[in-house]
Order: sequence, then structure tokens, then C-alpha cells
Amino acid sequence: IDQGDWVIVDAEEGTLHIRPDDTLYDAYKGRVSLRSERQAAYEALKDLPARTTDGTDVSLMLNAGLDLDMEMMKQAGADGVGLFRTEFQFLVSESLPKLNDQIDLYKRVLDKADGKPVVFRTVDLGGDKVLPALNLQREENPALGWRSIRFALDHKGLFRRQLRALVRAAGDRPLTIMFPMVTVVSEFEEARDLLLAEVEWSAQRTGRRPSRVEVGVMLETPALAYGLPELAGKAEFLSVGTNDLMQFFFAADRMTPHVSDRYDLVSPSALRFLKEVSDSCKTYGIRMSACGEATGSTLSALCFVALGFTALSMSAGSIGPVKQMIRSLNLQAFRPDFLAALNAPQQDFRNQVLALAADHGIELFDG
Ligand code: PEP
Ligand code: MG
Repeated sequence: IDQGDWVIVDAEEGTLHIRPDDTLYDAYKGRVSLRSERQAAYEALKDLPARTTDGTDVSLMLNAGLDLDMEMMKQAGADGVGLFRTEFQFLVSESLPKLNDQIDLYKRVLDKADGKPVVFRTVDLGGDKVLPALNLQREENPALGWRSIRFALDHKGLFRRQLRALVRAAGDRPLTIMFPMVTVVSEFEEARDLLLAEVEWSAQRTGRRPSRVEVGVMLETPALAYGLPELAGKAEFLSVGTNDLMQFFFAADRMTPHVSDRYDLVSPSALRFLKEVSDSCKTYGIRMSACGEATGSTLSALCFVALGFTALSMSAGSIGPVKQMIRSLNLQAFRPDFLAALNAPQQDFRNQVLALAADHGIELFDG
């Protein structure tokens, strides 16, 4: 690309158009102005609840990772932060962030949340999120490797320091924490015990403890879906991380473009699996939510709500469209038709759900 060349960066598609011709330029200009019009319409919904026409409230939360993102929470009208990716601070630093740096960040996030809930996801490092400072070995299959909670439990010094920072930042405010990529319940128990030990340690030294500690788990491996009976009474909530869960469910690497979009969450197999998860959560009294990119598509969000999810966390730009979709939905009328279709799918299930949504007057805004 030469100095002064025009380029179009399409951050939705992940593509770059170099020296676009007039037709392409006009097409993008059209898309940008359509989007601004839509954003203005979503602005008007900002202070309205994400409530279905028959009265089910869905809490729409923000996925964040920097304290800058917190500005978006109010702008987008989010009900809180459903996923705070704490590893961002580690990834943008040359060296490991010190205890006080971590405390400062988490405090700023809680201050800016102004009493709204924030779910801190503990460090999700390893795999493709490699820290030069840790000098890790190259792995054949990083997504399946020494990462996430596995990595954290094997680096107890680093992990405990982070838990300490979270507890100290909360002071006497409520603290909500979830652990990523838990595969077996014992990993959750080990991590939770480390957290509770930090709460006690901190209470002894500072005389303060969080007014409430909520501990949850991310459902990112199919194995954990069958560990929910043992998780009952231990984890208060579960958040489905669709990005990792779907890559493991379909055995399709999320980092390999040829396969990352090959399989569809809006498919009978994935949604039947998620229905099992939803049914188990009800049976075992585990509150459930979903985060990951899929929640930002209005069609996928519709499927989650139809499966009984009442909390979804997404990027700021998706909150308006998803809220508008929910406000057009009569859940009691749609759910039986949706579940019947899931039991008797036609060949093109996505189109079947799209047609059902159209029949029910549900407004979808994807693409
Ligand atoms: C996920 O896997 O869906 C998720 C939210 O975590 P991350 O994208 O950070 O792996
Ligand atoms: Mg993940």
C-alpha cells in the first residue's frame, strides 16, 4: 500500500479493501450511514428495559477488558459487565502487572460500574494469549493446551496475586468472579478455595471483606456440561463462552479462517446441547448466562432467550440491536414453535428459525 492510498477496514468481516473502486466505496458509505441511523434509533432505547412483549426481562451486559470500555457501559445502556477479561492488562504490559497495578485497575472498573454488577473473569492466559515474560514453550495445539485455569492453577503465585488484587479492590463491595475453561469440577473447587483463602487473608490484615462473594464458572468445554450435578451448590452461576465452547463442540479451531465459520451455532446439534445445559442449570439451581461473540447476533440471542437464558453479555455495539429484538418478542408464543422445530428440524434449520421469527413478527438485525 502506498502513502495516500485509500483503504476500507471492515472490522466486522475482518477484511481490508485496498484502493476500493467507486462502487465498493459507495456500498460502504451506504452501510455506514445506515448504521448511524440505526445507532440513533438504539440510542432511544438506552434507558428502556430489554423486556419481551409478554414481560420477561433479559439482562444485557457488556463484554469488556480495559477500563476504557467502561465508558461504553453507560453509553450502550448495559446492565453491568458480564465478562471482564482480566488478561488484557497482562497482555498489554511488558512485564507481569504488579499487585498494586491490578488493584488500581479493578478498583477503577468497580468505581465506573457505579454499583452495577461486574463479573471478573480470572486470567485466561496461555494458548494463543502468550506472555513473553513467561517464556512458554510452543505448543502443537495451543487451544487444547496449557492455558486458562489449567495454567493459572499451575502458576499459583501469579494466580493468588490476582485473586488478592480482586479482593482488595472490592474492599467491602460485592465481588463476582468466574473461572475460565474449567473442564472438571475439581479445578473449580481448587480455584474457589484459593479465592476464599485470599478473602480470609485480606480480612485478617485489612479488617475488610467483600459484602458478598459470588463464584461462577465459564462453560467452555463440553465435558463440564456433564459435571453440573457435582457443581450444584458450589458454583452460583455459569456463563457459556460460545467462542471456545463451539470450537471444542465442533472440533473447529476458532483461529483458522477456513474452519472458524464453518459450523453454525444456530443448528440442531449445538442448540440441543445448549438446551441440555439450560435444563441442567434449572435442575441444579445454577444461574446461567452466555457471553462470547454469538450473543451479539440477534438470531443467536433469540435462540438463547428461547432456551431460557435471561442474561447475555456482548460487545457494546450489539446491545441496541439485541434489545430491540427482545422488545419485539412474545416469548410464550415463540418458545413452543422454536422447541418443536428443534425436535423436528428441516434441512436448513437456520432458515427455518428465520422464517419462524418472521411469522412471530420478531425484529432481527444481523448482517
Ligand atoms: C469465549 O470463549 O466465548 C469467551 C468469552 O472467552 P474468550 O473469547 O476470551 O476466550
Ligand atoms: Mg474463552
